Amino acid sequence: MFAFRSRLDKAHTALVYLLVVLAGSVRGGRQLGLALAGCAFLLFNWFFLPPYGTFTILNPLDWLVLVSFLIVSVVAAQMLHREQMGAEEARRRADEVDRLAALGAETLNIARPDEALDAVTAVIRDTLKVATCRIHMTPHPAGHATSLDPLVAWAASSGQTVLRHGDGTTGLIAAGATFESGLESATGARAVLIPLRVRDRTVGVLELADEEDIALDPDQRRFLAALAYYAALGVERARLSAEAGRAEVLREADRLKDALIASVSHDLRTPLTTIKALAHDLRTGGDDRAATIEEEADRLNRLVADLLDLSRLQAGGVPLHLELNAADDLVGALVQQVSGALDTRELKVILEDGGPLLVGRFDLAQSLRVLVNLVENAHKYAPAGTPIELRTSRDGAFVALAVSDRGPGVPPEEQERIFEPFYRAPGRTPDVGGAGLGLAIARRLAEAQSGTLRYEPRAGGGSVFTLRLPAADLAEADFL
Ligand code: ADP
Repeated sequence: MFAFRSRLDKAHTALVYLLVVLAGSVRGGRQLGLALAGCAFLLFNWFFLPPYGTFTILNPLDWLVLVSFLIVSVVAAQMLHREQMGAEEARRRADEVDRLAALGAETLNIARPDEALDAVTAVIRDTLKVATCRIHMTPHPAGHATSLDPLVAWAASSGQTVLRHGDGTTGLIAAGATFESGLESATGARAVLIPLRVRDRTVGVLELADEEDIALDPDQRRFLAALAYYAALGVERARLSAEAGRAEVLREADRLKDALIASVSHDLRTPLTTIKALAHDLRTGGDDRAATIEEEADRLNRLVADLLDLSRLQAGGVPLHLELNAADDLVGALVQQVSGALDTRELKVILEDGGPLLVGRFDLAQSLRVLVNLVENAHKYAPAGTPIELRTSRDGAFVALAVSDRGPGVPPEEQERIFEPFYRAPGRTPDVGGAGLGLAIARRLAEAQSGTLRYEPRAGGGSVFTLRLPAADLAEADFL
């Protein structure tokens, strides 16, 4: 430029110097940019502003050019620097996210959930340089009460991060602080207990502990916040897998029980038939004790038949004949079957909706069996002399058959349990007969026909057991 000085305008000089400053800033950073701006300012003055070869200036307006040049080049160097720092920070963040994502995928991909948890704790221990990093699952997966450190238990139940300091005092991370910024106050603690949360539920506690005060820089805090979430997911996975394992064991036990019931009840039938036949012979021969043997054999036979039915029902092996039937036919068959057993007790039949015939699609024999069981139960449990009511009605898509008695009713905590196999009310003497299978079989029979069997307390005392069976439209049943 010096060679062409006579032909150069101030603007040309300023622009060329500006290019040099920018190029310097891009390659060498802010320091070089600013140094070049200073040099360019002096060189501009010395070589290109008259009088040449001095730092004095002839035309005061040239100061304007010079100072503007200096400001523009300093601001440009500064802005470039800021942009570069932003880009650098973004790159660092992206690297960190990549690293965390890879880590998360790696740790959570480990086949065994407890090994995945070990991997997460090992990564935290190594990255944060703390002596201990442990994950406490709450509640304990095996279900037994392990002696949890009270502080750990408190962190889990309150959902707040707890700090333990070197002097034995404890602190909390201020409520309302975001987890990451809250961890700032963890600096200086000897132990940090972080509740692990998944979907608003605390699943465990992450414990960091060291002999020295724990110091976490912003990067480490960010890292810990992310890994605490991985740890929470890992705990949840371990819990779900333990649950699935338990469910599988239960299913297996259930299958074994079904197989056992089926085979035992099957094997009992043949000897029972022989015993009964022999007792029958003895009775005709005049031995009175034979009658008792025969009665007891009958009772055992009924129990074995019930057991077989229950196991068949559970396996879906009871053949059902679902046909259009009138509720009247069912009620008629019931009255006929139970009248002998009820002695003097009255069975009141109430047919509601006196209108069109009630029709349903159900198995007549099996539904009759359910109702006989309900009426026999009512007869067994209700005081002598009180009537039993049978009410039939249309209830939405169902035909409802309700058997009501004035017996003791069923306490609320037992109202579902009485439908479980072998459940008998506590304190009830076994001589009332039955083994607690009647209602279990009845409910399964109802459900196998897409119906329901439910208990309700009766107003004024007693029980109402309602069998609901799918109703059918009369038009469908024209031929009945
Ligand atoms: P079981 O009658 O052989 O004991 P069930 O399965 O028929 O077996 O009944 C289970 C339990 O439900 C009975 O032990 C009894 O406690 C209760 N229960 C059934 N029906 C009635 C009723 N009508 N009133 C009061 N309790 C009943």
